[in-house]
Parts: sequence; C-alpha cells; structure tokens
Amino acid sequence: MDKQTKVNDGHRGIRWPTTIWMIVFHLGAVAALFYWSWRGLIVCAVLAWVAQSLGVGMTYHRLLTHRSYKVSKPVEYFLIICATLSFEGGPINWVATHRLHHAHSDEPGGDPHTPVEGRWWSHIGWILTGTAQQHSPEVLERYAPDLMQDRFIVALNRVYFVPLIILAIVLVAVGGWPLLLWGIFLRVTLGLHATWLVNSATHLWGRRRFATNDNSRNSWWVALLTWGEGWHNNHHAYPTSARHGLAWYEIDFNWWGIRVLQLLHLAKGIKLVRLKELPAATDS
Ligand SMILES: [Zn+2]
Ligand SMILES: [Zn+2]
Repeated sequence: MDKQTKVNDGHRGIRWPTTIWMIVFHLGAVAALFYWSWRGLIVCAVLAWVAQSLGVGMTYHRLLTHRSYKVSKPVEYFLIICATLSFEGGPINWVATHRLHHAHSDEPGGDPHTPVEGRWWSHIGWILTGTAQQHSPEVLERYAPDLMQDRFIVALNRVYFVPLIILAIVLVAVGGWPLLLWGIFLRVTLGLHATWLVNSATHLWGRRRFATNDNSRNSWWVALLTWGEGWHNNHHAYPTSARHGLAWYEIDFNWWGIRVLQLLHLAKGIKLVRLKELPAATDS
C-alpha cells in the first residue's frame, strides 16, 4: 500500500469536534421522542427522503461518485444541496472517501471503513476515532479531480453545513423546538446510521450473488433503510450501474427516483447493466 492510499492509519484517538457533534445529535434524537406529533413525523420522513434518497443515494453516490447518469449543472447543484442536509460532509470529501472504498474494498489501511478492521470501526469508529472523511488535498486531488474543478462544488464542500443551518432556522420559525428535533436531530441521526450500515452490515451479513473481490453483500433490510443502497454486492459487481436492485424483488427507491428524473427529461446517459439471466444467490 503506497503512502497516498493509506487513509486510515489513524485509529488515532478520539476526534473531539466530530464526536461532540455526534453526541449532540444523538441526544437531540432521544429528546425528539418526548415531542411526538404527526407533523414532526411527516416533516422527518419528507426530509429523510430529500437528504438520504435524493441527496446521498441518488446524488453523492450514484451521480457524483460513480457518474451513473447525467444531469444539468443547475439540477446537480440543487441535488448536492439536498445531500448536504444529511450532515454527511461536503460532496468532495464524501466522494473521495467512497472512491477510496471501491479502490481498496476491505483492504486494511486502504478502505476507510472496512469491518475487517472491526465491526465498531466500520460503523462509527472510523468517524469518531479515525480520519473520517478528512483527507489531505493530495488525496482529494487524486480521487475527486473532476469535482475539484467545479468552483461551486469546491465552495459548497467547505461550507456544507450552511444549508442545514438555514433549514434548522426555518424549522424553528415554523414549528419551534419540536420540529427542529424531528426535522434535524432525529432525522439526521437515523440517516447517518442508515448510511453507516452500508459500510458495516452490508460488508458482513447478507447474500452474495456475485463473487466480487471484497466482502460486499446484498441486504434487503439495509436496502429498505437506505432507499435501495443495501443491494451492495450487486453494486460492487457493477459499480457504475444506476440501478442497484437488479431483480424485480430488490426494491430500489433511488433507482425509481432516477427513473422519475429521466421521465421529466432531467436525467440522461443512464448507465445500466443488462443481465439476461442473473446467477442464483448464494449464502456464502
Ligand atoms: Zn462497499
Ligand atoms: Zn459505490
């Protein structure tokens, strides 16, 4: 492993700024449960779809990281702003981390979050005690050169938390603290764990349809929690496919979202894998 690709030589003690934010969000998520309302639940669900499906799954992952489809610049910028509401970091750091994951899947020291280095590490340890998504400019330049050329994306990458702060102010103004707790704290915390399950659970448990060079697996329950990202073995086998749920019973809301964008003439150049006959899944 050369020096530039060794990204998590750091199980290096607690990263306090990130850890304090995580504690605050988790406490806020618990506090939300004391202020239950239908309005809170609906706001939480709608924003979860905006941030996690439209944002993280369809945009950070399938559009920016893998270039599975194309949209116009204004649509791309709008979708990236949706993704920042997930509080999963800026677009360049997210994409570099995920491209590193694909380049070095399940290699200790190369994959930013492999369960080979421990289950806790793969879920949240890499956020709290690792390098998380903080990469050197050299790593960003090497793994996300396309995004580094876009000035709007570079700027948004630095201030990715601003759209979330604006949303928080709007929610307080409209519905007070209860709506803030449901629309931001609970929703963000659940979204983070859902995304982290793709790094932990779908490299540990589930079916392997394809004999990929990693431990990726298809997990129906992670797919349901992540709007379709849980068909992770399919995804590692065909990373550029815009559709991850390859069989009719593999529900993939993010793919349906991309199809809707296509029907609205907002998405084009959609990359797909056409499998005449899918090999049977195995339990290995
Ligand atoms: Zn993976
Ligand atoms: Zn991927």
